[in-house]
Amino acid sequence: MQPVKTSLFELFKIGPGPSSSHTIAPMRAGNDFLARCKALPTEDLRLAERIQVRLLGSLSATGKGHGSDRAALGGLLGHVPESCPADLLDRLAEPAEPYRIDLGAVTIPLSRTDVVFGAIHHKHPYSNTMLFRLHGGGRVLLEQEYYSVGGGFLQWKGWAEPETGSPLHPYSTMLELRASLAGSGLRLHDLIMRNEQAVTGRGEREIVEGLDQLVEVMLSAVDNGLNTEGVLPGSIGLNRKAPTLLLRSCEKGIRDRFLLELNSYAVAAAEENAAGHCVVTAPTAGASGVLPAVIKVMLDGFKLPRMAVRRGLMAAAAVGFLCKHNASIAGAEVGCQGEVGVASSMAAAMLAYGFGHDFRVAENAAEIALEHHLGLTCDPVDGLVQIPCIERNAMGAVKAYNAYLIAAAELPAHHVVDLDRAVHAMAETGRDMNTKYKETSRGGLAVSMVNC
Ligand code: SF4
Repeated sequence: MQPVKTSLFELFKIGPGPSSSHTIAPMRAGNDFLARCKALPTEDLRLAERIQVRLLGSLSATGKGHGSDRAALGGLLGHVPESCPADLLDRLAEPAEPYRIDLGAVTIPLSRTDVVFGAIHHKHPYSNTMLFRLHGGGRVLLEQEYYSVGGGFLQWKGWAEPETGSPLHPYSTMLELRASLAGSGLRLHDLIMRNEQAVTGRGEREIVEGLDQLVEVMLSAVDNGLNTEGVLPGSIGLNRKAPTLLLRSCEKGIRDRFLLELNSYAVAAAEENAAGHCVVTAPTAGASGVLPAVIKVMLDGFKLPRMAVRRGLMAAAAVGFLCKHNASIAGAEVGCQGEVGVASSMAAAMLAYGFGHDFRVAENAAEIALEHHLGLTCDPVDGLVQIPCIERNAMGAVKAYNAYLIAAAELPAHHVVDLDRAVHAMAETGRDMNTKYKETSRGGLAVSMVNC
């Protein structure tokens, strides 16, 4: 099996919510298609008249609520997720607003209505498929089929693994990672750091700075959410509740202060994501409240040093890499077990490792958290990443903490199930899961809410 070659900064990406597969990847696809159009021969470009985009699979089923059409439009207008304005999706809300795309030799019109929602069931290899076409002179001048494969990762027809360096300590399963750690004598964070350097060519300092920037963006999402009241965008009219949760935790004599704080942090970041604001995919935007909440607790609650958070983040990444490599982190592929389930598993590993426990405790914590998310469906109400997603992030954070407590209390050797088995079970369960529970809003809570 191919070794894990995912970079820390591919797994943890900065970009606009509410959904990495539905906003970050479509924006990247739009931006990539723009570049491909500009690279056409001038004689073809002069014929260009319009671009049409068709969103398929769950991008069609829930893309409207997730803002997928606006994200694709933003990419075609030259924006990229990591640097786009925080309110870009709000700015692109007007369906008929005319825009122009400068292709160099020619400028062509574009509006949100050029991005259409197509078939939910189709024959393309990935559920979340996007078809981009440039029309002109009575023919298709350029077409490209893109796949949003989860966590904001983008592939396309003919895509091949990009040429990168090879990991110094290759592994494709937790079993191999364990063997690699034992063989090299390295600690987990050192191994992840060395692999990151070898794969990306980045220096240690650059990687550390990148990790610190991710932490800052995560903490900003929590702080912004804690300081923002009102109603979230979309048809539900859902009130934000993070500030109230935090306020409640400050009441005199309150029991469960810690739990209320942890909940408020996760809800705060998830509400910012639901508002389409800037988050870090961890591993996805929909699940982007779990790790920030745990990081805030580690830093503010337990006063752990930044170094512990950095190391914990690398342990979390190892778990995320393995889940992505051997199963999926896309709700459209395996349901919410691949999003909040994996986020919770990553956060449990981060807590254990950040608190200085042995790698095996971190693995066991990750396994416990993932095991108890197995089978979790994805059924966002009205296609919005709000119900059940926001509270589910809080559940994921609390479950991560509980998984860490259990793993830290038991002898690591007494733990029976290893992480590889839980990841395998997630992949199997995801394969067997009916499509209506995989980010299509056609089953579960999404349907119950409409019916009641
Ligand atoms: S239910 Fe889970 S997987 Fe589905 S959109 Fe919400 S957070 Fe993502």
